[in-house]
Amino acid sequence: MNRTGGAKSFSGLREESPCRRCGTCCRLGGPVLHGEDLSLVSPWGKSWERSFGLADLMTLRKGELARDDVAGTLAPLDAECVKLAPAPESPDWTCRFLDRDEGAPSGHDAVCRIHAGRPAQCRALSCTDTRSITELYARDRVTRRDLLQASGAPEVWQELSDAHEERCSIRYLAELACAVPWGHAACAEREELVRLLRFDVAFRQLCVEKGGIPQDYLPFLLGRPLVALLSGFGLRLEQHGSTQELVRIGKGSYVPSGTPVKS
Ligand code: SF4
Repeated sequence: MNRTGGAKSFSGLREESPCRRCGTCCRLGGPVLHGEDLSLVSPWGKSWERSFGLADLMTLRKGELARDDVAGTLAPLDAECVKLAPAPESPDWTCRFLDRDEGAPSGHDAVCRIHAGRPAQCRALSCTDTRSITELYARDRVTRRDLLQASGAPEVWQELSDAHEERCSIRYLAELACAVPWGHAACAEREELVRLLRFDVAFRQLCVEKGGIPQDYLPFLLGRPLVALLSGFGLRLEQHGSTQELVRIGKGSYVPSGTPVKS
């Protein structure tokens, strides 16, 4: 995993050489970070031109559904990973550093804004020979803890991340979400899940308002908001006036770890 969320796996990339700057791989999603990328991360609180910082990252937490771009499957992650995030408000997973060279012919105009400091997966990926990326793909992935230490972020950030993980783990979310039945009848899991979603929202607000953490660091520090993960479980949170209702809209694609679903 995971330049996740794209429609294709690496094996579906066109076999042409050298790089045509078509941007297809960058539109599959930003790369997952590995140990050798730690030196590329800018120090906390400082801008570092042509590189990236914690605000450019997002965490996919243990248990989250993610696409394995080598195997071409969708499955829950057995460990968290951190990747370059899409641009805010982006409708898809395209890497936030993908730009266009206005002077180049269409289809050959992809530009990486951090080309000199691009992560290991981007350097390893070749359309004609996927051995390097396949070898690197699952090896030595970094965690939030690695990145917090490498960037010199305040220690309390790790404590907040741990506290959130303890209360809002994907495992607990999945346990509740999979037990929510069709229909509208009240049940313990439905009510607890709504409480969990509210806790997640309140915790994020607390981090910003009391902890002084910039909003755009939260996708890295706490992962995606729980409400954004509901669709994977076939659920949607609807607002009716001042009340919220959790509605089942499908079966969802989540399956227990170890039984990947063919995408
Ligand atoms: S960092 Fe650059 S090369 Fe890598 S996915 Fe993003 S735009 Fe593409």
